[in-house]
Amino acid sequence: MVTAVVTIAAFLIWILPARQGLLVTMEARPEGVMGTTTLLRVVVPIGGGATGRRALAAAEQALREVDWRMSTWVEITELSRFNAVGADEWVKLSPSTLAVLEVALEFAEATGGAFDPTCGPILEVWRRGEEEGAVPSEDLLAEAMGRSGWRRVRLSETSASKQVEGLRVDVGGIAKGWAVDRAVEAMQEAGVRGGLVQCGGDLRVFGESGQGREWRLGVRDPNRPEGSLLPDTLSIAEGAVSTSGNYERFYTIGGRRYSHIIDPRSGRPVDAVPQVTVVASESVVADGWSTALTVLGPDGLGLLPDGVEALMLVREGGAIVRQETPGFRISAR
Ligand code: ADP
Ligand code: MG
Repeated sequence: MVTAVVTIAAFLIWILPARQGLLVTMEARPEGVMGTTTLLRVVVPIGGGATGRRALAAAEQALREVDWRMSTWVEITELSRFNAVGADEWVKLSPSTLAVLEVALEFAEATGGAFDPTCGPILEVWRRGEEEGAVPSEDLLAEAMGRSGWRRVRLSETSASKQVEGLRVDVGGIAKGWAVDRAVEAMQEAGVRGGLVQCGGDLRVFGESGQGREWRLGVRDPNRPEGSLLPDTLSIAEGAVSTSGNYERFYTIGGRRYSHIIDPRSGRPVDAVPQVTVVASESVVADGWSTALTVLGPDGLGLLPDGVEALMLVREGGAIVRQETPGFRISAR
């Protein structure tokens, strides 16, 4: 009985008049996915409820799969197993985990190491610092930096290995974006007319929005003292948006907030870029660049490939200034 009530509540349905006949929008908010809030929405023709439910279930499954394969918060995932082994030991991984590692290493290469999926040991030191209430010492940081470095990960067709003892991989910088892309694919395969997948600060839309020509997306106010300089809404027909900011996840040590994004060159949390929003066609691309730009600052804008646009808030002296790519206005209105 309880299950039935929860299931009904999880699928909010409303009907909207659209250009081509009546469309129905169905929504689900699966909980406990990648440690953040998730919203799934599909648009189907009237009478397409079964297709919609199938699409929502498949999308949820796709998100959860990324979590149970790649989370480093629990010990039983593939990545945790990889993290636990010693140097030069090859660990067999699933094709999807290998693909994420491959993309992560490509980001490392493209950003000169500012994006580094091997910053796990450094993150660990900061996490422990939070527990103990003390900023990590230089020695601890130097030791952790000695156990990281993206060039020390080797991938084969089926497996991965590390070249230094104690190296740990953390794909938190792209995992949500990757998962959103897989969920979108699942929805498309189920045959819906349009859809939206949002996982924390990562979001992607496609097809009919059910509410006019484009998807109108509210961009969250980071609720910082500086406020947000973002436009109130973004309108996009198709594509992905990713926002990185240290207002959702951070370490608190001695009453001060430290970002959960580490500059791998210094081993310290970044401080100069409170918020980045990236628009791209794929979520994994938007996600990776939003993390990388947080490390790189405005200099990183020049590295963005074609089709990727960004808006960043940058600390300059006492002020917060807005920096963006020339194309950002085209996609953000
Ligand atoms: P979120 O959506 O959780 O805010 P982001 O996409 O902003 O995540 O990425 C932050 C996460 O990326 C961190 O929690 C950590 O797991 C990982 N990370 C931190 N620093 C780096 C870095 N320099 N390169 C790659 N990944 C990083
Ligand atoms: Mg990211």
